[in-house]
Amino acid sequence: MDKPFAITLDVNSSLANKTGTWRVERPRYLDRLPPCNNACPAGENIQGWLYHAEEGAYEEAWRVLVEDNPLPAVMGRVCYHPCETACNRVQVDEAVGINAVERFLGDEAIARGWELTLTAPPSGKRVLVVGAGPAGLSAAYHLRRRGHAVTIYEAGQLPGGMMRFGIPRYRLPRDVLQAEIDRILALGVTLEVGRTVTDVAATMAGDGFDAAFLAVGAEIGKRAYLPAGDSARVFDAVSLLRGMEGAEPPMLGRRVAVYGGGDTAMDAARTARRLGATDAVVVYRRTRDRMPAHDIEVEEALEEGVQMKWLSTIKEVGDSRLVLEKMKLDEHGFPQPTGELEELDADALVLALGQESDLRLVHGVPDIVVDDGVVQVGPTMMTGHPGVFAGGDMVPGDRTVTVAVGHGKQAARNVDAWLRGAHHVPAARHELVSFDMLNTWYYADAPKTVRPQLDLARRTSTFDEVVSGLDETTALFEARRCLSCGNCFECDNCFGVCPDNAVVKLGPGKRYAFDFDYCKGCGICVAECPCGAIVMEPEPT
Ligand SMILES: Cc1cc2nc3c(=O)[nH]c(=O)nc-3n(C[C@H](O)[C@H](O)[C@H](O)COP(=O)(O)OP(=O)(O)OC[C@H]3O[C@@H](n4cnc5c(N)ncnc54)[C@H](O)[C@@H]3O)c2cc1C
Ligand code: SF4
Ligand code: SF4
Ligand code: SF4
Repeated sequence: MDKPFAITLDVNSSLANKTGTWRVERPRYLDRLPPCNNACPAGENIQGWLYHAEEGAYEEAWRVLVEDNPLPAVMGRVCYHPCETACNRVQVDEAVGINAVERFLGDEAIARGWELTLTAPPSGKRVLVVGAGPAGLSAAYHLRRRGHAVTIYEAGQLPGGMMRFGIPRYRLPRDVLQAEIDRILALGVTLEVGRTVTDVAATMAGDGFDAAFLAVGAEIGKRAYLPAGDSARVFDAVSLLRGMEGAEPPMLGRRVAVYGGGDTAMDAARTARRLGATDAVVVYRRTRDRMPAHDIEVEEALEEGVQMKWLSTIKEVGDSRLVLEKMKLDEHGFPQPTGELEELDADALVLALGQESDLRLVHGVPDIVVDDGVVQVGPTMMTGHPGVFAGGDMVPGDRTVTVAVGHGKQAARNVDAWLRGAHHVPAARHELVSFDMLNTWYYADAPKTVRPQLDLARRTSTFDEVVSGLDETTALFEARRCLSCGNCFECDNCFGVCPDNAVVKLGPGKRYAFDFDYCKGCGICVAECPCGAIVMEPEPT
């Protein structure tokens, strides 16, 4: 058939024209840093494990996750998920339920018996870890995976630290915690319980350790001077919660006041409700918006009938009555006394005023600096004493399980380098991907999956877990809500839209490449990539 007068190119006919020399710019595939990954204190590759979860490849997803964090089932229950606050999807509808998917993967691993693996050959070095809380367990795990012989000395009779003796079981069931600890120990980490370290330098020298990671937490409840009668029943929150792990739960009475505004205060008040208190009242000297407790904890406490007395301090503790003073905030937001008094009936008072570290094990160790009640460490997590590292609640920083796990990982990398006489060089950071680098029109609307909760009657009468996990269908749905910010997820858009067929598909999992013999540098691929994984750059000279 004759060609029409106005010529239309046949499909693929442009392949005959090597048009690359016209270009002034060329595209490049790249990986950018998603904001979720950037915000996770444990440094998880969230986008990476969600990518596998989206395909239903759960074991692979879990394996990517545990490269950074060996406690996903714990995290999926107790982490305050700063990753979700940072998630780009917030600007479309709601954050991806990263924490819920993480819990699903953690629970799957326990249910299916997935095991951790060791690949590094033995290094011949021995490392002491002091304390089996999240910081110590994380360090032990990462050090063991680097081939070192690791021994944890734990003062208590059971491992877990505040995950076991602080966080109540209605938020973290103990069988879940134990399963994740057992998996770390199964790597060949030695745990010695009932071993309180009183002088770390002497212990290291006496027991032949080459380096140490200290993670003794902050376990002493702070006291406040309150004039109290002889028979006043005053507890500190940490001891109360620790007592919940013993054979006999503490006796609090029907009217319980909790003094403080942090997460520990919320847990103490919620525990009091479960122990039978009809009135559990939190007394806090500022307003709700200035409370250090996380919103979710305050909301759950309110749902369970915990009452709040904002702008109040305790002046006096009587036999079954407290004297409170009303406060007001000054222009700088500090609470000031008003002289106005009121009374509150209370059979017991629980003090939740924060915790301090017992740092006797470093007293007298040369060059270890204690400032403001915490041990000072450098960027490598090493103290001033060579070979002694520290992390978790006993060093400056936020006090959460996730931060502690992150410290353990960071310290392990640096202990490992130090033992080899080297310096750990962190991998180069990718550029952070911002929301305006995405084409969100490409993604379907999908509201966040809500995790089911135990009914209220059972919440206040039992210690059963309050929040349930996702099932496979909902976990898959939630994982698929991820926009894969800054990382190619092989959607084929660039391959399909390139007018010059200059995008070459390299095969499943291998992504794509540009054929610069044909690319004109038009930039359509960049404009059409949903997740910002292609950039235009000046043509190299
Ligand atoms: C009531 C409560 C609720 C919390 N809820 C949450 C939450 O929901 N989410 C969250 O992210 N964070 C929460 N936190 C904070 C979190 O638990 C801590 O930040 C975290 O456990 C700190 O980890 P760590 O390893 O530094 O110390 P810890 O967990 O305190 O562990 C320290 C370990 O060291 C041992 N030890 C102490 N001294 C010695 C010694 N001399 N020799 C040997 N062993 C020693 C202790 O017995 C303990 O096992 C909560 C804290 C409390 C108190
Ligand atoms: S550990 Fe916390 S911050 Fe990190 S991915 Fe899990 S939920 Fe998010
Ligand atoms: S959409 Fe996915 S990759 Fe992007 S920030 Fe949220 S979880 Fe991370
Ligand atoms: S358009 Fe799709 S296939 Fe191409 S780089 Fe972006 S995400 Fe990957």
